[in-house]
Amino acid sequence: MKLILTNYGHKLLLINNINDNPTFITDIEKLKILKKIRNEIILDETFSKNYEYLISNGLVEVIENNDFQKIKFKYNKNPLEFVDRVVVEFTTECNFNCKHCRNGSLNKITETNIPLLINNLHSLKLLGINKFEFIGGEVTKFANGWLNVTKEINKDFDQIISVYTNGWWINKSNFDAAGKIYLSDIDYITDLKNNGVTHIVFSIDGYKEKHNISRGINGLYDNIISVLPKVKNAGLKPQISVVLKDDIETLVVALIEIATIIYDLDKNLNPESKLRILQNDKMNAFSNFIDIGNGLQNKRNLIHFSQIDEKHLICKAFYRPQTIRLQANGNISICPLLDAGEDYGNFHNNNIVELLNNFQKSFSYQLHANKQIKNYLKYYDTNIFGLYFDHICSVRSVLTIIARKMNKISIIDNSSIRKIVDEVAEYSGYNEI
Ligand code: SF4
Repeated sequence: MKLILTNYGHKLLLINNINDNPTFITDIEKLKILKKIRNEIILDETFSKNYEYLISNGLVEVIENNDFQKIKFKYNKNPLEFVDRVVVEFTTECNFNCKHCRNGSLNKITETNIPLLINNLHSLKLLGINKFEFIGGEVTKFANGWLNVTKEINKDFDQIISVYTNGWWINKSNFDAAGKIYLSDIDYITDLKNNGVTHIVFSIDGYKEKHNISRGINGLYDNIISVLPKVKNAGLKPQISVVLKDDIETLVVALIEIATIIYDLDKNLNPESKLRILQNDKMNAFSNFIDIGNGLQNKRNLIHFSQIDEKHLICKAFYRPQTIRLQANGNISICPLLDAGEDYGNFHNNNIVELLNNFQKSFSYQLHANKQIKNYLKYYDTNIFGLYFDHICSVRSVLTIIARKMNKISIIDNSSIRKIVDEVAEYSGYNEI
């Protein structure tokens, strides 16, 4: 019997090595076997109970051949090696319709299988992952049951659990947040803390009016400013999430004000230092504005299609991701744009360890790892997607989805390509500009 480590088993062993103690594999005998397989690359052994355990738990697999170099390469390129964060998209339902939202046109759906989600997150925790981000949509409003999940995965209060929110609940009384009634925002924040949440991340688009207009809610900016001390007093960390566009003047004013509050900075400290502190805190999220979804309404047409460098179409996240995303529809994803990264199986219907072990079989994995995506550039119809774009990720995501859809059909002719391009244009928002 020839045995090799799976992606999951290999990553688990990496974590054990880093920690230098068998925290995650408590049985020394089994740990020894895993180490022996890793050292020998392929282990030729006769069957035993220990092997049976390791195989049935997805740490080890049996292979037929003896391709030493191929397996060595597989270990060296383990797609799970750098994963250190899990994003749980609990719901796509939202109470706002923000101008830059990338997912405005997606189906509205909320995760309902709480026990299954908890089990899957436990499997991911075993890989040494201790950062879990709950995002939406608006989790705090629509994700019924999400606090049961955070409570369960942070029982020992040793995890980093953050929730992204637009702040609709601030300064409200007797409000319903994801199926529970709260007397006040302080009551709500306290409940988050008691259920294992450690960070509340507020989305910020600009200073005062700029933010309020972008979110379509009067007074929202001041509400967020007013809640920051309450979050801190309750023992949670307030953070910010920012989408960077070129008009950042008012955003900088907002960020300086917020940094001063959340890090208790001296009012006289220079603005650059305040911004640096905010930027250096990895729990804050700075992302680029991407011209897709609602963002297409603010497209600036910065880069001409002819300027695309084919090698920039490749995204490493598709084959060596840092973040695994569990989508509300059950799909495992690696990309936040539309469903571009949802090609690694569905954990609602399959064992998540098995899915992670088959990561390399995903079409999208191969599309990017084998540099095939450039072959689909000819299907990027500039009459539909435009001659100009703002960010290469909008082109990457559109091409990835087109390629994936083409891979699923048996006859590729002009009419089937037309149909696919039209479908992608529709749900990525291009048919509305
Ligand atoms: S395509 Fe862009 S947004 Fe998507 S995973 Fe890659 S870098 Fe991130």
